[in-house]
Amino acid sequence: MYLSFLVFFNFKIKSKMKIRRYKKVHKHLGFFVNNFGFRQPYQLLIDGTFCYAALNNKINIADNIPRYLQAEIKLLTTQCAIIEMENLGSKLNGALLILKKYVVHKCGHEGKPIPGSKCLLSMLKNRNESHYIIATQDRDLQSKIRLKPGVPLLYLHVKTPVLEQPSAASVKAATNKLSALCKSEIEALQELKDKNGLTNEEKPKRKKKKGPNPLSCKKKKRSNVQSNVVKRERQIEAEKVKRKRIRISKHQNLQVQAKPKLFDYILIALAEFVGTATLLFLSCTGATLGIQGAISGMHMSFNAGLAVTAAIQMVGHISGAHINPVVTLSAFILNEISTIQVPIYIVSQILGSLAGCAFQVIVTPRIYIDNGGESPAGFVARHLTRTSPTGALGVEILLSIILVFSVCSSWDHRNSDKQDSVPLKIGIVVVIANLAAGAYTGASMNPVRSLGPAVWTNDYSSHWVYWAGPTIGSLIATYFYKYIVLRKN
Ligand SMILES: [Zn+2]
Repeated sequence: MYLSFLVFFNFKIKSKMKIRRYKKVHKHLGFFVNNFGFRQPYQLLIDGTFCYAALNNKINIADNIPRYLQAEIKLLTTQCAIIEMENLGSKLNGALLILKKYVVHKCGHEGKPIPGSKCLLSMLKNRNESHYIIATQDRDLQSKIRLKPGVPLLYLHVKTPVLEQPSAASVKAATNKLSALCKSEIEALQELKDKNGLTNEEKPKRKKKKGPNPLSCKKKKRSNVQSNVVKRERQIEAEKVKRKRIRISKHQNLQVQAKPKLFDYILIALAEFVGTATLLFLSCTGATLGIQGAISGMHMSFNAGLAVTAAIQMVGHISGAHINPVVTLSAFILNEISTIQVPIYIVSQILGSLAGCAFQVIVTPRIYIDNGGESPAGFVARHLTRTSPTGALGVEILLSIILVFSVCSSWDHRNSDKQDSVPLKIGIVVVIANLAAGAYTGASMNPVRSLGPAVWTNDYSSHWVYWAGPTIGSLIATYFYKYIVLRKN
């Protein structure tokens, strides 16, 4: 009995605190709406520190912040904030993933990134004309923002989002504006304030509303107090109804997924398996001499490139469609994937390679696969007849540098708005590599592209070239990209 009594009061106190919190937010937001022209959907400009804190406290930004502000919001960030997070290393990978999902607003530092806090400040310009609400945990940045008029500041206090009360600078700017208004405008404003419950007269009213101390054990006075309690209960109900009405669009709900779960890993493995199998099946069948009649180099080159395009289009949105261990290696070095994902990718690619090539071997008569033992027969250069192994190694290194560099550029945040035709672009890179050097080495650039055929024909001559070449090429391209192209400013 005593316990249930305590629980009941605890619940009441909590809901009361919540209502106060919402009222405060309403009041503070109202200040910016009335004095600085803020309108829904509010533009929330987020930096890495806020994402990091949200992730640590298991707060879903896209879910919690609109509910807290009781308004529609747009989640935004800047390139500089993203680059800063990227440069801080793999520890912040989770927060970086969240940040990358937000809309990137142009900050004018393209090509010359500056620290995130400076960038956010620069976005405010003089008067915060774009009406940004800044979300940051950076104390230094917070104190600078408080000096700027008309900038709402949002931060996390442990698990609770807090919209800070308007800073002294904002209040001063608002009163200055007010004194410059004519009489009728002041009256109109006062009316608006009355409507939104922003008048100063509210404070003494609140004192009256205060009931007895909920922890006191005295018996309640019936008459006046009870009506007050009833009133408050109605208020709570009204607030509940209000809160239920807040709609959050579906895409915003999906935006934040903190850490990948087991199912995500399975999906990635499946995608890489299917993607690599597709690549192997298409590129091997397309290049099987004999059964195709006379095949030109042009045919084989486009076949190889467009096979890559098909595979990326199929699974690119699921796993990124690496379909190549040296691309996975590059993704790992550039923190695009975590350590645990590396073996998942590579094992799936190897299995996909074996499966895709198995299909080709099953549907093709043996005579065309062996092809008298002299020409590649759809396989990447089983016998290097035209080049020496070391020459072939050099060619594979160079081709892989070109391929991996292109892939790195597609991951670069500066290309984040040019993702539509990435499958086609990477496919065309493979086409030109094949057109140029297909006759030299078969232009594999991919160890698993060569592995399946080698296993099913049991022919491993010069096979090492197709592991060593692409791997060395990938390391050169990726480290060059990491330390030269993505260098810290
Ligand atoms: Zn910037």
